Amino acid sequence: MPEAKYLLVGSSHAALEALRAIRRLDPDGSMAMVTRDGALPYSPTVLPYVMSGRSRPDAVILRDRAFFDEVGCRFVSGVAATGLDTAARSVRLADGTQWRYGRLLVATGAAPAIPPIPGLDTVAFHVLRTLDDAVGLRARMGLARRAVVLGAGLVGLHAAETLAEAGLSVSVIEMRGQVLPGYIDAKASARIEAAFAGHGVKLLLGRTATRVAAQDVGIAVTTDDGRTVEGDLLLVATGVRPVTDWLAGSGVQVERGVLVDGFLRTSAADVWAAGDVAQGLDFASGTRQVLGIIPTAVEQGRIAGFDMAGDAGQKPWVGGLPVNTYRFFGRPAVSVGQAAAGGDGFEVVEQDLPHLYRRIVLAGDRLVGIASVDDPFDAGIMGELIRRRVDLAAVKDAFLADPTAIGRRLMSEQWR
Ligand SMILES: Cc1cc2nc3c(=O)[nH]c(=O)nc-3n(C[C@H](O)[C@H](O)[C@H](O)COP(=O)(O)OP(=O)(O)OC[C@H]3O[C@@H](n4cnc5c(N)ncnc54)[C@H](O)[C@@H]3O)c2cc1C
Repeated sequence: MPEAKYLLVGSSHAALEALRAIRRLDPDGSMAMVTRDGALPYSPTVLPYVMSGRSRPDAVILRDRAFFDEVGCRFVSGVAATGLDTAARSVRLADGTQWRYGRLLVATGAAPAIPPIPGLDTVAFHVLRTLDDAVGLRARMGLARRAVVLGAGLVGLHAAETLAEAGLSVSVIEMRGQVLPGYIDAKASARIEAAFAGHGVKLLLGRTATRVAAQDVGIAVTTDDGRTVEGDLLLVATGVRPVTDWLAGSGVQVERGVLVDGFLRTSAADVWAAGDVAQGLDFASGTRQVLGIIPTAVEQGRIAGFDMAGDAGQKPWVGGLPVNTYRFFGRPAVSVGQAAAGGDGFEVVEQDLPHLYRRIVLAGDRLVGIASVDDPFDAGIMGELIRRRVDLAAVKDAFLADPTAIGRRLMSEQWR
């Protein structure tokens, strides 16, 4: 039975960062990374570029074989973990192999959640999460003229932009009344919606797909207002769910994701979880949430890795903060923290000018969220102001007028 002191399941941002942290403290401990993906590690964020042809699939890898040899980590790809036995300290793989571990990291991320739309299971459709998905979409795009995208979140919009730029006629169906729901407020969304409409993308907002059916050529999606949207390529981008199925029966506590504490430890001894699969502390609410973004996956991976390697001086995770930067049809947008919040307990200051939109959300004299369209700002600085709960009382007007300049000054004082 193969064994490793450190067994990392998953090969994306969280697992790679954990590997790096472990090796800083323990250069020699035996280590293996097991992943169901057949490719070397890559970031899912590059997939729209693979779809469009801007990036070749073999040019997007984050680490090559030589890297794994250099750091002394066995890289086992193309085989999924299918079971975990915490008593025996072993992970079962799809090919029947059992790996024994000393310390285990669950970094299996998230996978597309497929909605129960009648008829969807009878037609061919695409999702976008893996390199194979992107390569498959690229091949299909070359044959299609009309695309239907279900969902106007980050993945749906990135894909819709790529499809439109490739010359397809694109329709996006979104059940909420705006694009990027949950990320930004309706006014910011309206600007992004205008960018899509300006490039010929049809947005059906506040509409639910109620049926999907195959046609002689392509598919037809019926919406709740009785409309029919036809296409010869269907992409389902209605959200993701943490990949926890292989943990069933293991005793590792799972709610929406794997429940973790401040050191990314799970309910089972010597088992950690990090990234999109983990349900850890959310900075704003103080509750445990799944936060599906790279900054969280990287930070959690680092903390988990150091803890796995026995770092006694480590500080616990302070909680995740949503940080997103986007660019759609050349229009930059940024959102940090509770950028869409409003109502009791919040002060919202908006600048809604023809050439830019900015929304700053304060709680008392502290920044809790900020978003903009066509007005890029330093998301890192704003994240630090929020995390450190920096008091803005003395500089509030100046900050509202120029958040980036004042934010940088305040943070340089903090860091001094
Ligand atoms: C198109 C797209 C655009 C995105 N854009 C952004 C962005 O702009 N900013 C941002 O912050 N985030 C973005 N994200 C989200 C971001 O990619 C994720 O937050 C991040 O990749 C999470 O990293 P992770 O390591 O937790 O897991 P994932 O990247 O989900 O990787 C999971 C890993 O686990 C492996 N795995 C899964 N199941 C098993 C199993 N049973 N056995 C073995 N291995 C398994 C997979 O092969 C993979 O290696 C985007 C995602 C997509 C798809």
